[in-house]
Amino acid sequence: DGHAGEGAAPFFLHFDARELDQAPVGYMLEDRYLYRAFLDAMEASDKITLLHETQVTGQQVVPGGVEVSLSTGKTLTAKLLIGADGRRSGVAERAGITREGWGYGQTALVAAVEHEKPHNGIAQQFFMPTGPLAILPLKGNRSSIVWSETEENAKTISALNDEDFLAVLRPRFGDFLGEIKLAGPRFSYPLNLTLAKAYVAPRVALVGDAAHGVHPIAGQGLNLGLRDVAALAEIVVEAMRRGEDIGAEDVLERYQGWRRFDSTSLALGMDTVNKLFSNDNPLLKAGRDLGMGLVQAIPGLRRGFMQQAAGLSGPLPRLLQGRAL
Ligand SMILES: Cc1cc2nc3c(=O)[nH]c(=O)nc-3n(C[C@H](O)[C@H](O)[C@H](O)COP(=O)(O)OP(=O)(O)OC[C@H]3O[C@@H](n4cnc5c(N)ncnc54)[C@H](O)[C@@H]3O)c2cc1C
Repeated sequence: DGHAGEGAAPFFLHFDARELDQAPVGYMLEDRYLYRAFLDAMEASDKITLLHETQVTGQQVVPGGVEVSLSTGKTLTAKLLIGADGRRSGVAERAGITREGWGYGQTALVAAVEHEKPHNGIAQQFFMPTGPLAILPLKGNRSSIVWSETEENAKTISALNDEDFLAVLRPRFGDFLGEIKLAGPRFSYPLNLTLAKAYVAPRVALVGDAAHGVHPIAGQGLNLGLRDVAALAEIVVEAMRRGEDIGAEDVLERYQGWRRFDSTSLALGMDTVNKLFSNDNPLLKAGRDLGMGLVQAIPGLRRGFMQQAAGLSGPLPRLLQGRAL
């Protein structure tokens, strides 16, 4: 917790994976590799047909199912349509599911950075008044940065050339990893919170960001989505085994009941942490420093936070426990 160039305040939190029975707390995966692995797995499956370069353009509930229109002019019919189409989910919109949320007035600047010294598998997060800077370990002497700034600052910083961008980053990043340079292209993402008011509608279930787009402050967005997928798969498979209609309202309600509370509480928790830290108010600063000092001093609390971040808390779907459906 501090200001760029001044170093961290004396209060900090250190989470050590060795305090958990199950280490490490998490893995950092670059999504380009994850995408490729998912696509390869889908291509290898004889139960999945991948339709490249195809958009879903419409959907309609029909007797006993749902009909989906594609940009190729084709239609598909199924018992259940799963909306996994991100924060601006067309599936949700067409199903009449409205959303609530707000913009953060922040933009995340994202890039891979190469550094002189090893990171030793440690992720760092610095909280500054304009937003947090996360430094997340990748393979070798490389880290991914997720640097949240006010929209105005982010616009100015994005327009800089690489050398000037690094000159602004260096005092924030600090010198604990030695000299730094960019190791790939820079991206920017405007940040907002967007929660679907329902996760299900007739013959429709939402998963991932289509259901809940959260602040990346704790790197939990995709993890929440994976929990949705695992929970929905478990409920659908159980329903099939019992001979139930997998798109029936009571089956979908079980999914919503399982996932909605978990995602909403995490989304609002991340929202509070961001609001609490992304400011220069001396009273709030005293409060958060006291809070961090307390959590740092109490091992049970520290473990609780780590378990939450590692996705080990709450009723875990079987797939996330590594068990078969
Ligand atoms: C800066 C930043 C950093 C992040 N860091 C982390 C992190 O460290 N860890 C983590 O767990 N999460 C992180 N997240 C969150 C994570 O990126 C998202 O939660 C995740 O990508 C959501 O996956 P998704 O598949 O639900 O949605 P998306 O990734 O948005 O994918 C939706 C897909 O649907 C497709 N689509 C949309 N409309 C249609 C249509 N009509 N027809 C066909 N296809 C369609 C889109 O093309 C897209 O491919 C971060 C997010 C941001 C912004």
